[in-house]
Amino acid sequence: MTNSHGPLLYEGKAKRVYAADQDDWVLVEYKNDATAFNALKREQIADKGRLNCQISARLFELLEQEGIPTHFLGLVDETWMAVQKVQVIPLEVVLRNVATGSLCKQTPIVQGTSLEPALLDLYYKDDAFGDPLLTESRLELLQLVSAEQRQAIEVLARRVNAVLVPFFLGLDLQLVDFKLELGCNASGELLVADEISPDTCRLWDLRTSDPKQRILDKDRFRQDLGGLIEAYGEVCKRVQGACPNPRNYR
Ligand code: UDP
Repeated sequence: MTNSHGPLLYEGKAKRVYAADQDDWVLVEYKNDATAFNALKREQIADKGRLNCQISARLFELLEQEGIPTHFLGLVDETWMAVQKVQVIPLEVVLRNVATGSLCKQTPIVQGTSLEPALLDLYYKDDAFGDPLLTESRLELLQLVSAEQRQAIEVLARRVNAVLVPFFLGLDLQLVDFKLELGCNASGELLVADEISPDTCRLWDLRTSDPKQRILDKDRFRQDLGGLIEAYGEVCKRVQGACPNPRNYR
């Protein structure tokens, strides 16, 4: 995938977005860069881009099959996918099924507490401000979304959780929490965008009870546990087993 893309439109921490030959879609290249703590910690990890691209493609397709619209159009090759062009809403929508991470750093809620219904947190997506957690009133003040849009975002995010939790459970993986980004396409339809991968989800392996060994996501990088690619590879293997052939674009 070296010749047939247009100019680079945007480069993020984990992906590059290129123009395609039509206006309403773009090409996304998944990079091998691993970053954490607002990119204060960064490293190149061979094969990470491919694994995240392959996992994301299958999860997007799974959501589509369950009637949840996503920006995914199809895989282009191992590390590239074609997606609908969307206006990304500057919110990070985090769904938490089990308490860990920032929730336990910022509140007395005990690590591992089961959260039912899942806790939905909205963060303002802006690295310059360190992606702060939003309150209802700050969300209103910032006027990032209308009340109706906010409602639609919450409904969509909870539907995603309701599909992904049992899917991962079937693979002996516990979906602890995850982050979604949503966007609107040219027709104004709300879509799941960005990526869904072990970079953006916490996944615990139910085949082991060892609290470090069970971590199959970016916490391995955040906590310097090593074995990141082996962990992502294991997630990819299980996801591929359940969803062998995601669609290709063209
Ligand atoms: N997350 C993410 N990008 C971010 C922040 C969080 O993908 O910029 C994901 C993270 O991988 C986890 C979930 O959102 O699955 C909740 O993260 P948390 O708020 O606990 O933040 P952290 O502990 O990573 O600081």
